[in-house]
This record gives sequence, C-alpha cells and structure tokens, in this order.
Amino acid sequence: MKITAVEPLLVQAGRRNHCFVRVRTDAGLSGLGEAYSVGPDRATAEVVAYYSDWLVGLDPLDIEGIWQRLYIGARFPGGVVGNSALSGIDIALWDLKGKAQNVPVYQLLGGKCRERIRIYQAAHGADTNDLVDMAVSMAKKGGLTAIKANPLPDEVEQLGWTAVLHQVDRRMALLRHRLGDNVEIALDPHAKLLEPSKAVELCDVLEPYHPLFVEEPLRPENIQALAEVRAKVRVPIATGEMLFTKWAFRDLLHARAVDVVQPDVCSVGGLTEAKKIAALAEAEYVTVAPHNPLGPVSTAASAQLAATLPGFVVLEHVPDNEGPLRDLVVAPYRVVDGYLELPDAPGLGIELNEEYCRAHPYVAWRRGQPIKPDGSVGLL
Ligand SMILES: [Mg+2]
Repeated sequence: MKITAVEPLLVQAGRRNHCFVRVRTDAGLSGLGEAYSVGPDRATAEVVAYYSDWLVGLDPLDIEGIWQRLYIGARFPGGVVGNSALSGIDIALWDLKGKAQNVPVYQLLGGKCRERIRIYQAAHGADTNDLVDMAVSMAKKGGLTAIKANPLPDEVEQLGWTAVLHQVDRRMALLRHRLGDNVEIALDPHAKLLEPSKAVELCDVLEPYHPLFVEEPLRPENIQALAEVRAKVRVPIATGEMLFTKWAFRDLLHARAVDVVQPDVCSVGGLTEAKKIAALAEAEYVTVAPHNPLGPVSTAASAQLAATLPGFVVLEHVPDNEGPLRDLVVAPYRVVDGYLELPDAPGLGIELNEEYCRAHPYVAWRRGQPIKPDGSVGLL
C-alpha cells in the first residue's frame, strides 16, 4: 500500500475552524486526522499540503518512519503550526493503519487498560451565577463525575487583586455547594497570570475546595517559575496544552513543575508523540489528562489514546451530540454516565459528514484580546 495524497480540509463549525487531514492510498483506504486550529489555520492547511509531496509513494503503515521524516526533515523544531500539521497527518496514519488491519487504534497502541473513558466538560458564564448554573446542568445532563471552570472572573484585568481573590472564593464556594462533593472540579485560570506569587495566592484560595487540578496557573514559557509555584502549593498543577513534543514535556517533568500533563494529540506531535509523553510522565508518577477542546475527531483520537494509558485521569470533552459539532461527523462517540463509550470499529471509529464539511468552509477567526485600563494588552 502506498500513499497517493495528503489533503487538508478546513471546516468552520462552532466557534472556530477544524483542520482535518485525509491521507489517501492506492488501496482505496484513507485515514482521517485533525490538526489543531491555532488561529492562522490556512497556514496549517498549507503545511499539510506541502508535506503531501514528501509522503506520496511511502508505505502509510511506517508511522514512526514518517514521523521522523516530517519532524527531522523540517530541520527546525516546529512551532505550533508545523507541529499541528504533523499531528494531523500522524493521527490520520493511525486511523488508516487501524482500518488496514481491521482493529481499533487502541489495539495498535498496546491494547486498552480501561473499558471506557472518563470525561469532563467546561462550564462558562457571564458571571459566577451563570457559570455555576451551567456547571450544574452539564454535570446532570452528562452524568459527569468532573467539570472544569475558570476560577477567575472575566474582568480580572479590571479588578484589584484582593477583589479577584474574594470573587474566586465566592465562586468556588458556590460551585462546591451546588455540585456537591461527588463531582470533581478542575480549574483553569487559562494562563492569565504572570507573577508566581499571585499564582501561589490563587492556589491557596482554591486549596480548601480540593480541586481535581489547577491548570496553567502561569503562562507556559517559564517552566522554572511554574516549578517554584508547584513547590509552594498543595493543589495538583496541570499544564501542557501549549507545549509540543516529548522534549518540551521532558523539560517540564525534569523541572518537577507538574502533577498532571495535558498533551493535545492535535498539536503535540500526534498519537505517536502523545504515547511517548505519557510514558515519560508515568515514570515520574505524573498523570495524564489530555487537552481536547476541538471536536469529535480530536475526541476520537484522544479517547483511543486514553484507553491505553495507565496514568490517565480524565479527558476534556466538548459536547458534540447537538449543534454544529454534531454535524461534522456521521456519528460522535456516545457519552454514557460521564464516560465515553469506546467503539470497536476499525481505526478511530469516526467518519466526517463530508457534505456538511464541504458546505461550511474556512472563516477567519481570532481570539478576543482584553485591554487593561492603562491601554496595555491583557493575557488571554
Ligand atoms: Mg486550558
């Protein structure tokens, strides 16, 4: 079997684009993957198309060799665009290999060590009451055992720090009271802080509520600063959604900066790289909660991976059984009582709704950027 084409497909659905990747072969089989939608999504699609010439004529079952060809062949360590393109291709190759061998991808990744995949969903809201209402209704609707929320108020850039901490405490008290003790609360301040001392103060306010983890209490560039925060707090620290490849996670783990790593299969280097990162983490007694904010194809790849990881804790999940995300695929994975059911179909067990995808092409988008009272740029 030989690769005949590697094709990007940009589709607008929900709040963002989805950058799907199709690897085609001369055997008539094809594989489906997804690259992370980072913003300049046409750039990611262009890199996928650029790599097509490198791969035509190769055996698609040689996944490790193809990963090396793309990563080392680019010479420069990839940034988010290059690594996302590589990831989308890698995921498509695993899907293709599963179909070629008539087994689910988890069988190719070593076989499963769990039967179903625990998920959490993220609640949002204009204010604390809205957010808590959404968290309660999500938990009830999905039978969830965990939800995620931003502990910081939206107007964090506008408020004094003492006011912020008081609002955080009120939000946490209400969340815990309404959700009860059996729904775990993961917290994501969304890399909104730059000062380690403030991150420590925030974690101290969160500690009495026993969060499942506190994600990105600092921006990701300075791993040593995060290690200093972790050494001073008693809540589990999670991070990794903005890091790529085993080498970045190696540095993170060696700095003892993290309790829960959050690789994203659509940007970290695909399933090939995510499996290795999980092994590095396992050896350090660090657990894995894959980052997965995109949609049903990313969810399928992440769930297949999670099935094989001894240190897996919980998978991020965006509700996809209604609305535009539902329309992207023929059938999303089923959620039953807070867990994803693993299909036994070959490959990833997910197929695009091609007609819908072709009818909803790329739309330019960007993240909103907060401006502080003095006119300077806030973090997002
Ligand atoms: Mg996050």
